[in-house]
Amino acid sequence: MNYQAILEEIEREILPLFGEGKVADYIPALANVNPNQFSISLQMFDGTSFGVGEVNKKFSIQSISKVFTFTLALNYYGKELYKRVGHEPSGNPFNSLVQLEYENGIPRNPFINAGAIVTADSLVSIYKDNTFNQILEFIRTVANDDTINFDEEIFHSELEHGFRNYALINMIKSFGNIYNQIDDVIETYFKQCSIMMSPAQLARSVLFLANHGVNPLTNETILTESKAKRINSLMLTCGHYDASGDFAYKVGLPGKSGVGGGIVAIVPKKMAICVYSPRLNSQGNSLIGTKALELFTTKTGLSIF
Ligand code: GLU
Repeated sequence: MNYQAILEEIEREILPLFGEGKVADYIPALANVNPNQFSISLQMFDGTSFGVGEVNKKFSIQSISKVFTFTLALNYYGKELYKRVGHEPSGNPFNSLVQLEYENGIPRNPFINAGAIVTADSLVSIYKDNTFNQILEFIRTVANDDTINFDEEIFHSELEHGFRNYALINMIKSFGNIYNQIDDVIETYFKQCSIMMSPAQLARSVLFLANHGVNPLTNETILTESKAKRINSLMLTCGHYDASGDFAYKVGLPGKSGVGGGIVAIVPKKMAICVYSPRLNSQGNSLIGTKALELFTTKTGLSIF
């Protein structure tokens, strides 16, 4: 299949959509990006890659970081972790508080903010003061790139404006499902969200999920086949907040979005993809990114269904 030609075709076909959607503006540092960007990177198991747009330009990975922190936590705790965070779609917005109250502070899944905050707390219990460094090291390992870092300005912007996340963590703590100091946990969470990566780095870094837990580029085992399966299932059912069903319906691949405008997706046993375009739909997922992935699976027949 001529993937490069297909990506170029997609780039042409999404052009009329430019102008639709809105860049995340709940923190000032995210509102400042150029809204009219589009890039997509395809990473194959043999190291070959294809792409259009600025595939090496870094952006804020935001909620895509939840895939990496959950991988770390699931590796360490195994199914014990599900006592503190579930694996059901929430059907609610990414930052919603409502289910927590009648579900005893147990977030529905690790890919909504509440679940990612509990996941961050579970990592602080293991790594203490060194938690963020461990997360960053893990991401550098899976991406095979130790230049990856976080953005101080975005981190501080989240610290100053992330009121909803403070509400979430306080609510969860009131139910006894946050074991560490609120400040330590929320700082870890905000820092992981402000990590900067390019589409090419992100596509490489989720390749292990497309290959039963083994990074095909380095042959390193990141997690077991069974755990990789579970993370992929969660990405399919919960990776796009209250638009997860719509993404599965239209794209048909496990994927995870972030409000920075990135989406990662995997084609099992074949490749990993990252698309970036910062204008978001009303559920906080990249509008053009979702459309581009829909076009990709339509044109290639590579959805999992
Ligand atoms: N930092 C964002 C927040 O917590 C992450 C949300 C997202 O990417 O969807 O609000």
